[in-house]
Amino acid sequence: AQERYASIRDLPAETKCGQVIALQMNAGLIADLPSLAGSGAEGVGLFRTELQFLIRNQMPRRAELSALYTRVLNAAQGQRVAFRTLDIGSDKVLPYMKPNDEPNPAMGWRAIRVGLDKPGVLRMQLQALLRAANGQPLAVMFPFITQISEFRAARAEMDKAIARETKLGHPLPEKLEVGAMLETPSLGFAPDAFFEEVDFISIGGNDLKQFFFAADRENERVRKRYDTLDVSFLSFIKQVIQRCEASNTPLSFCGEDAGRPVEALCFAALGLRTLSMRPASIGPVKHLLRRIDLNDVRAVMDDAIAKGEQSVRRAVADWLVYQV
Ligand code: PEP
Ligand code: MG
Repeated sequence: AQERYASIRDLPAETKCGQVIALQMNAGLIADLPSLAGSGAEGVGLFRTELQFLIRNQMPRRAELSALYTRVLNAAQGQRVAFRTLDIGSDKVLPYMKPNDEPNPAMGWRAIRVGLDKPGVLRMQLQALLRAANGQPLAVMFPFITQISEFRAARAEMDKAIARETKLGHPLPEKLEVGAMLETPSLGFAPDAFFEEVDFISIGGNDLKQFFFAADRENERVRKRYDTLDVSFLSFIKQVIQRCEASNTPLSFCGEDAGRPVEALCFAALGLRTLSMRPASIGPVKHLLRRIDLNDVRAVMDDAIAKGEQSVRRAVADWLVYQV
């Protein structure tokens, strides 16, 4: 698939109306990194650090982690990598951690909740990331932030890690971005201060959709009932975009939907300027974006909304048939 889109690999995803959309890739293992050059991705918008924990049979040590992150950063050759701190619990269970028996793990003790309640691993990870950056720029984001207070507590852990590194005389990143993943509706309604304080936000659409529609992402039966291009969901995304614009907060979307061409088009039409997806999706999404005027997409979407449709999918897909 990458060969098919090789001719546009080094070209920007610039729409006919002159809007440039940054296409980044999702990754989780060092083996994924060669796709950065192969796909033409502009950096890694989501590096799922838990994968490196999941493939082991014991808790890694800080030095090992820092060596791993150094390899990731070296492989990225100066391109930005947004490291997401450990997102365990729910569907991701570490073989060497006592599983907690929860009736509803997706809504249970997971991700940053574990990181804040038992901060040992989070601290080790932050320190390993700072060491790996070794003075170079670093971007870190926390998973499953639902409230401003959680973001502040997580950021305080980063501040502590920085203080420790400073005391030890280690170099600090020349630029440090600390972000949050928006994966629950609540964060979209957080106080303005949250949008001011956070360095960037990435929408984790897989989880966000599950909580927005109360539909388990692992349950085929209910998962497919709800469309990402549902008018209610898009209206929520639109509000998040507007709040980020108002506070000048960089916003990206890194759930699987970002890599689906019709979804990517609608997200770009709504105002999203950065999409992070699996590497194989970058070519097809870029190919489509380069042929489209977003004003047209917006008009089609607005029309479907005005007609009272549940989802804009049919209208956009039908229109698209005549465009490409
Ligand atoms: C998401 O929830 O959309 C996301 C990107 O994170 P994960 O799929 O790893 O939960
Ligand atoms: Mg998620």
